[in-house]
Amino acid sequence: MRMMTTQKLTGHSDLRPARLYDGYIFDLDGTTYLGDRLLPTAGETIRRLRDLGKRTVFLSNNPTHTRAEYAARLTRLGLPTTIDEIIHSSLVMVNFLQRRMPGARLFVAGEEPLKAELAAAGFTLSEEPGRIDAVIASFDRTFTYHKLQVAFDAIRAGARFFATNGDRYCPVPGGGQPDAASIIAAFEACTATQVEAVVGKPSRYTIEAILDLLRLPAERCVMTGDRLETDIAMAVNAGMAGALVLTGATSAEMLAASSVRPTYVLPQLGDLLSNVTDIATPVAPPAKSGENTI
Ligand SMILES: [Mg+2]
Repeated sequence: MRMMTTQKLTGHSDLRPARLYDGYIFDLDGTTYLGDRLLPTAGETIRRLRDLGKRTVFLSNNPTHTRAEYAARLTRLGLPTTIDEIIHSSLVMVNFLQRRMPGARLFVAGEEPLKAELAAAGFTLSEEPGRIDAVIASFDRTFTYHKLQVAFDAIRAGARFFATNGDRYCPVPGGGQPDAASIIAAFEACTATQVEAVVGKPSRYTIEAILDLLRLPAERCVMTGDRLETDIAMAVNAGMAGALVLTGATSAEMLAASSVRPTYVLPQLGDLLSNVTDIATPVAPPAKSGENTI
């Protein structure tokens, strides 16, 4: 297939940022890494931003790992990261439920890391439909007919219905894995009940979490991601710049067909900096150690 250039798609000659921001938010799967490898130019670009004193944080809708696991993976891949620099849909769900239904009984169609984070936050996990306050649909590669039955019974008995994220699939090397959208759809189909809130990107709950963490106004931040309907839609909703990378779920053809418009379009993550001309080139190694300036 012939690749279309961004110029042909948009009529603009260059869609790379020509300026720096104070806060840089990066999606993980398909943006920072794919599987167990950093995507080309991702590592050096994020390290360079940190050297420039910029805030860098990571934001994932994927609830199948804990924040500690994400931090450990990034650190292992050469980007030393602490759990305080990670926000994912499990954390946003914990905060969402703690404010609205503290101590609630939950049925979670999700994997162990999500269940563990909810249990650690004081929620009780249950499979007794009449005693369940809320059903949580999530990315669940252990999904079974039994789980569908429990969710069906609980929602029909009056349980509320929330979801961690609305992604259709998660990109993995060589393809993708069906994500939470399919679990949400299964519950909606059999109960004729629509999910009440999906807390991951692009929801306002995730925007609040990320701005709380960065302590910067939205206009001083840029969200970089590979998905129009989550990463870029969140940036648009939040009033921040959105940079679409073409290294994951979205092709130039998909961008051309979408009504979601990113501020920037980047063939690879390094193009966040490749058109910025006012970056001072260090003349000597930094006097202080510590590449992570956060
Ligand atoms: Mg992604």
